[in-house]
Amino acid sequence: METTLDITTTAHYIGGKPFPTVHERTHDVYSPWNGEIIGSVSLATESTIDAAIEAAQQGFKVWGNTSVKNRVQVLFKFKQLVEENMAELSALCAAENGKTVAEAKAEIEKGIEVVEYATSLPQILGQQMVEVSSGVDCQTKRFPLGVVVGITPFNFPAMVPMWMFPIALACGNSFILKASEQVPLTPVKLGELLTKAGLPDGAFNVVHGDKDAVNLLLENLAVKAVGFVGSSKIAKYVYEKGTLSGKRVLAMGGAKNHLVVMPDADPELTAKNVVASANGCAGQRCMAASVLLMVKGSEPILEKIQVEIAAIRTGIDMGAVISPVAKERIEGYITRAEANGAKLLVDGRNVVVEGKENGYYVGPTLIDGVMASDECACDEIFGPVLSVVRVDSLDEALVIENANPYGNAAAIYTSNGGTARYFSERASAGMIGVNVGVPVPREPFSFGGWNDSRFGVGDITGEDAIRFWTQTKKITTKWEVSAGKNWMS
Ligand code: NAD
Repeated sequence: METTLDITTTAHYIGGKPFPTVHERTHDVYSPWNGEIIGSVSLATESTIDAAIEAAQQGFKVWGNTSVKNRVQVLFKFKQLVEENMAELSALCAAENGKTVAEAKAEIEKGIEVVEYATSLPQILGQQMVEVSSGVDCQTKRFPLGVVVGITPFNFPAMVPMWMFPIALACGNSFILKASEQVPLTPVKLGELLTKAGLPDGAFNVVHGDKDAVNLLLENLAVKAVGFVGSSKIAKYVYEKGTLSGKRVLAMGGAKNHLVVMPDADPELTAKNVVASANGCAGQRCMAASVLLMVKGSEPILEKIQVEIAAIRTGIDMGAVISPVAKERIEGYITRAEANGAKLLVDGRNVVVEGKENGYYVGPTLIDGVMASDECACDEIFGPVLSVVRVDSLDEALVIENANPYGNAAAIYTSNGGTARYFSERASAGMIGVNVGVPVPREPFSFGGWNDSRFGVGDITGEDAIRFWTQTKKITTKWEVSAGKNWMS
């Protein structure tokens, strides 16, 4: 998981080049692997946001008037450049986030899928035209919105921005990315590659910043739409503030994902799959398994899950969590669960990774004997902690799943198709897995949750994204065939 990085201040990326500033607050970027500073960024103030908006407006004049066929040529080139630079990008992404390099590579590959989808825009735009009356055609055309914004979380420094900007750009918008201040380095590299791929200056910009930058972007009337991904509390805030100033907003929030294990589930597949879901990216995925609902009779599978979890080597198979604050929060949940009478089958507190004693590591944790109303079964912990709630039936499991306020993912493990269908139709979540613990839809199937996991309408990728980043114009035309000229003239 080692990499060598230049530790320098990374400027904002505006108008196709670095945009250094001197009077702004700065924020150091720590590698969760070892707690060392690997970079530093300025936090945008009003003048930087204004510069980004101005650059994006200039960029839009060129990019918005480029044909969709030519726009996607830039994305083809961008995909090639990302693939050529995969080693550097995944090393940087892993170092600033704390995940393993293999996980960073996987997230970039998932981002590339969205780029591929965006390159097919000329084929899928399918602009409709119907002769609605004799000699009269009615046609729908999609147009970009103008300057749009993406605000992203720490857990996927490359993939989550890549859910948004490839489609938004293919649709002809210019884009301002306000990435998480905790992982701001990878997004700038993506910006450099877009410029190298031939994107006009200003069509893609990265501003570093925290809540002040977010507020300035939300208040700016030149911004027409905002895509947000992060915690539910901030998602709701961004949705309300953004829509108040007339913007389109789609804000994806947090999650608490339930996995149901039926007694007829395949023990090996289930154990491996559940454990990978709960512990991949150290549990810092909005699709991670968090509550395991073991239906009576499935107890032997829990034993296998325990063995699999105990075999994970923290610091080798599993990376670190994002910060000392996150580590303390996660360990607090484990401590309180134990004090509350739950049984720690695997305890990930106080792990020390040799040679990385200052890293922010939490080991994989399996908590048994949890009640559905316990905080560790209700709150988003966002760490490698799996809480086991034992239930008598699938219907009891569904009551618990349905009662949780989130709705990103839910999964069932069973060898009975009818049981799977019963669950899929009743679980209250936007993405369902059947024997799949991280049911992230592959493109062109779109990504999006329900309930408090999403504020706004539609999904963040796929066809919904095309609708979100465009507006339609309906054009009615009448020509006299015999006169060979417009009937009005
Ligand atoms: P976060 O909500 O703290 O931050 C997300 C973004 O909002 C960042 O860019 C941050 O700078 C900004 N922000 C933070 N506080 C703000 C405030 N008070 N006002 C305005 N902006 C603010 O989320 P995070 O900790 O970076 O990421 C983890 C969260 O993201 C988890 O809840 C996870 O479930 C969620 N997530 C959801 C999805 C999804 O698709 N539903 C995907 C990935 C992550």
